[in-house]
Amino acid sequence: MEYKADALVLRTADFGENDKMLTLFSLQYGKISAAIRGVRKAGAKLRFAAQPFCFAEYVLAKRGERNTVVSASLTDGFYALREDIGKFYAAACVTGVADAVLYGGIVNEELFLRAVSALGQMCGGNEAETLISFILKALELSGYMLSLDACAGCGAPLEGRIFFDMAGGCFSCSECAAGAGASLSTLNVLRKCAGKEYDPALADKDGVFRALRLLSAYLAEKTETRVKALGEYLALLAAG
Ligand SMILES: [Zn+2]
Repeated sequence: MEYKADALVLRTADFGENDKMLTLFSLQYGKISAAIRGVRKAGAKLRFAAQPFCFAEYVLAKRGERNTVVSASLTDGFYALREDIGKFYAAACVTGVADAVLYGGIVNEELFLRAVSALGQMCGGNEAETLISFILKALELSGYMLSLDACAGCGAPLEGRIFFDMAGGCFSCSECAAGAGASLSTLNVLRKCAGKEYDPALADKDGVFRALRLLSAYLAEKTETRVKALGEYLALLAAG
């Protein structure tokens, strides 16, 4: 049986002599694996369809539990992401995070559309803030939404010394002090990227780094998966 799926390449692995196994995030069927034959040969017609971040309409043949790519027509290759190392790693974080929060066979149209739009925005804009917005949304859609509005203990405004509780995904004031110390710049960057009111003076570059580090740790705690690309992107930000 052949069927079509609009899908984004999350991950690829070599197998056989010239083949790859793709992990695809499809709009219609969620996460699926599919073999793609001969794409490691120079000049292979479907080479583009086995590249990272490729967004295409795939035609798949299903035999038993196995999918094989028959053909693909490109929707967007997001080529600008391959010309800038920061954008490349940030984009790898988008696909890595989507992979970490998705279970096989679960359809999540909103996450799919958010992932595709984040990759598009990264091509031209600020990849770090786009990534933070995407991770916040991915966490929310997975039931791990962060609470960014007030102290989770007493409802007081978050100012001065604040704390972040990894288990609860919430901030608290210095009186309630649940979890580890956090910075106001982290909170303000998270609020900015969540589309909430924030203090521009506090949403600085250091806050972007800290916000990503916090999200990386929180995601690892909730999904029990370490997204390798997040570690690599953080190292790149720390070096720059
Ligand atoms: Zn409090």
